[in-house]
Amino acid sequence: MSSAPASAGPDLTRGIGASEIPEDGVLGGHVGDDPVVLARVEGALVAVSGACTHYSGPLKEGLKVGGTLRCPWHHACFDLVTGAALEAPALAPLDRWKVEVKDGKVFVHEKLAPADALEPMAAGAPKSVVLKSVVIVGGGGAGFACAQRLRDLGYEGALTLLSADAHAPYDRPNLSKDYLAGEADPAWMPLKHDAFYPDHRIDLRLSTTVERIDTAARRVTLGDGTALDYDALLLAMGAEPNRPHAPGFDRDNVFVLRSWADSDALIEAAKGARAVAVVGASFIGLEAAAAMRTRGLDVCVIAPESLPLETKLGAEVGRFLQGLHETHGVRFHLGRSVSAFDGETLTLDDATTIAADLVVLGFGVKPRLDLARAAGLKIDGGVLVDACFRTSAPGVFAAGDIARFPNPAGGAPIRVEHWVAAERQGQIAAANILGAQAPIHEPAFFWSAHYDVSIRYVGHAEHWDRTEIDGDLAAQSATVRYLKGETVLAAATIGRDLEALRIGQAMRDANDRRMARATAAGV
Ligand SMILES: Cc1cc2nc3c(=O)[nH]c(=O)nc-3n(C[C@H](O)[C@H](O)[C@H](O)COP(=O)(O)OP(=O)(O)OC[C@H]3O[C@@H](n4cnc5c(N)ncnc54)[C@H](O)[C@@H]3O)c2cc1C
Repeated sequence: MSSAPASAGPDLTRGIGASEIPEDGVLGGHVGDDPVVLARVEGALVAVSGACTHYSGPLKEGLKVGGTLRCPWHHACFDLVTGAALEAPALAPLDRWKVEVKDGKVFVHEKLAPADALEPMAAGAPKSVVLKSVVIVGGGGAGFACAQRLRDLGYEGALTLLSADAHAPYDRPNLSKDYLAGEADPAWMPLKHDAFYPDHRIDLRLSTTVERIDTAARRVTLGDGTALDYDALLLAMGAEPNRPHAPGFDRDNVFVLRSWADSDALIEAAKGARAVAVVGASFIGLEAAAAMRTRGLDVCVIAPESLPLETKLGAEVGRFLQGLHETHGVRFHLGRSVSAFDGETLTLDDATTIAADLVVLGFGVKPRLDLARAAGLKIDGGVLVDACFRTSAPGVFAAGDIARFPNPAGGAPIRVEHWVAAERQGQIAAANILGAQAPIHEPAFFWSAHYDVSIRYVGHAEHWDRTEIDGDLAAQSATVRYLKGETVLAAATIGRDLEALRIGQAMRDANDRRMARATAAGV
């Protein structure tokens, strides 16, 4: 990952005029090699690290709202006073710096001691919520974020994080990006170092599969027959890559991309390969295509759509992405499906043949619902939850790719497959497990990276009447709004990070107003 330019802006050890610090924004500077941002919160001057603790995004280019600051890259949200990471994807607080005012000038020299991660809420939780054991099924984005947030909020009881994966929780989105391209240090991948789990008394059990849930007895049964009792259970099993029904796609040189092991297996195979066929023009398929091009392989993409990602991002962005990949040497076979793979040659439905040393499957996922279905939970293409991520069974919550939740913008419940959304849902579920009544109120957010182009997307649009494009996609500076009637359901930006933040904030505010009206009306 690239990091924020450390020395950008004024040297804050030399002091700056107090009037230079805006009321409604932040001022970015540096102390030695450390980027630092200064801000005003309720009349006081505060200073925190200027690099997001997720991917080192430049916080001086972020959005300040009240006493919070949101990162322009992946929309992590921090408390400017305590530095606390309030909202994923940041999972660690910002350093705080001491601010001194002398003769009308503001100086920053030294770091302050870290503040508490978050205000513990266990003490304020309703007395009825006395939990001795929380069990989390799934060590991905949602499961990890829930576990961490439970401890940050002061939960003291037993906490078990069960994961079928052999690796401790890691940065899944990177599996198809820099990591797959060979440009990310494996040390960047774990969400936390190994000591985090014992230090936080999180009983992390890897390579451990939950086979059964008894919601009446509040018990889960593991693959080895061990039973675990819970007071509260979070289900966060994620999703499973789709495979074509055509023959040959179960061969050893056909790869899916979901786990760290999947990515490693593909990297190993790519070392001896010359030509790669990517089946499916999904986000993951296209990101894998970019990574394989970075590795110097011949890449073609086969997909049934007439434009890549048209159903997700519209024709204009689809066309832009196709052009971008073609400029980097990717060849597309669109409007085509695969009929067979014999280990060396792919045959398409129009009898075209394509030589491929390996095949990457990237045509969508399905949520892992079997466990929830067998447990009798209500399901509708996802585990049905309320806005607090409670399922139909008492004490059972669900979050992440498996959860179908009320759209905070109104309308039918939705299910999304986004990293930040999964982590946020895990964090919200944690608060509600502890007895808060904290419904989701933020729009979904995701990003996707292709070569040096990143797309940010806020909101949720499955169907829209029209798109409005402000700017120029070809120039990589554009905002695409997806509208139904006059309502902006979602927006995608390229090269306009602050605008994505502003649109996200406007949606959050609108959701809050909507929820306040519903509460006032007793709905
Ligand atoms: C390669 C790749 C790239 C991506 N890139 C992006 C991106 O750029 N931006 C974005 O927004 N989203 C991206 N995503 C999507 C994002 O990673 C997912 O939406 C997110 O991981 C969902 O989180 P989750 O916790 O629901 O599931 P997961 O993160 O998939 O975690 C599920 C966990 O449950 C475990 N599990 C499953 N069944 C059981 C069981 N029975 N017992 C115990 N454990 C079980 C699994 O082993 C896994 O640890 C990407 C996904 C992939 C695969």
